[in-house]
Amino acid sequence: MSTPFDVAVGGGAAGAACAAHLAQGGKSVVVLEQGPFPRSKPCGGGMAASVQRWFPFDLSPAVDQVIRRVRFTWNLEDPVTAELPGEAPFWIVERSRLDAFLMQQATTSGAELRCDWPVHGMARRGERWQLHGPAGSVCSRAVVIADGSNSSLGRPLGLGAARPRYASTVAVELNAPVDDPHTARFDFGLVHHGFCWAFPRQGGYSIGVGTFIGREAGDAEAVLQRLLPDLGQPGDAGRRQHSVLRIWDGHHRLHGDGVVVVGDAASLCDPFLAEGIRPALLSGSLAAQSLGAWLGGDSQALATYSARMRRDWGESMAWGKRIAQVFYRVPRIGYQLGIKRPTAPQRIAQILSGEMGYGDIAQRVIRRLLLQQG
Ligand SMILES: Cc1cc2nc3c(=O)[nH]c(=O)nc-3n(C[C@H](O)[C@H](O)[C@H](O)COP(=O)(O)OP(=O)(O)OC[C@H]3O[C@@H](n4cnc5c(N)ncnc54)[C@H](O)[C@@H]3O)c2cc1C
Repeated sequence: MSTPFDVAVGGGAAGAACAAHLAQGGKSVVVLEQGPFPRSKPCGGGMAASVQRWFPFDLSPAVDQVIRRVRFTWNLEDPVTAELPGEAPFWIVERSRLDAFLMQQATTSGAELRCDWPVHGMARRGERWQLHGPAGSVCSRAVVIADGSNSSLGRPLGLGAARPRYASTVAVELNAPVDDPHTARFDFGLVHHGFCWAFPRQGGYSIGVGTFIGREAGDAEAVLQRLLPDLGQPGDAGRRQHSVLRIWDGHHRLHGDGVVVVGDAASLCDPFLAEGIRPALLSGSLAAQSLGAWLGGDSQALATYSARMRRDWGESMAWGKRIAQVFYRVPRIGYQLGIKRPTAPQRIAQILSGEMGYGDIAQRVIRRLLLQQG
């Protein structure tokens, strides 16, 4: 029998981040990706620049555009603009480039990438995991489940959400002249129970519609027919890409015996603003740290991963979920009382740039209410 890898990892942003850390830490790593790599991935690519702190290498080669302000509207009117804090607070990345860049960091440090290798199942055999699919089988001491929002591997092991909650999305990549390359736009009035966005990138926009209650982005086409002309484009411009996105819906165990689940497969995506790249990179980075310790003999290290994700991400998302539940049920009121509050855009900007969590916002609101009562 061939020597097992230390770790078998899935592809995608979360998996590639984890693989890069593990390979740079001297672990033998195999990345199993069901398709070709790099591959295109419907994604707005908006990402807090603060993710840089989790990586020992410079991420700027993967950055397409730097965002300096955020503009919110209601039905394309009633605008509110917020300047983002810091030097270069929010980046737009092209996903195939970011994922390929992270993967390159992994492979140049010795990780082996196997494309067209869909994992169909995995089983624990003694001290090893056996992963299998049509391309054969692979043996490893540990596994990182990183198969995204349609994940099928975590649930049979009791990892992540038993009944995941989904947002539905429609994405459009548009090649067009961009009038303000440093402003990201969000509109909360056009979409029922969600929002649409237009993020500038080199040579065009990443546009999308996200619905957070119910699995169908039912009115997405009508939304695009209004949003695209507002950007000076015909309503039917660009190709529509439909997908679902697992969103955070509660704290869950993210580790088992020699196995962890990361990224969308772990339902980490922000239920208010659909931010999924930052938790994907955070979980990939923390999982690598814990796996390094576990492979070195610390039997409790993987439990530390679940605990850290709960503390560093889940606690904020629990508040984000509550805020989303209220906001998306009465979005007009939410926009007037929330987004249009003088300090609110700045707070959302701080959330997007990773400077603040939803819990900080909730505590401020509670303090304000208590002061009003007192
Ligand atoms: C339209 C849209 C817009 C978005 N915009 C933003 C945004 O602007 N900012 C932001 O932060 N987040 C955004 N997100 C969310 C973000 O894209 C995800 O949260 C992020 O991609 C999660 O990364 P991941 O590595 O967990 O999963 P993925 O990137 O989906 O990677 C999973 C990988 O696993 C592979 N795979 C799946 N099954 C198997 C299998 N059985 N065997 C082997 N390989 C498999 C897939 O091919 C894929 O490469 C958006 C999402 C959508 C849908």
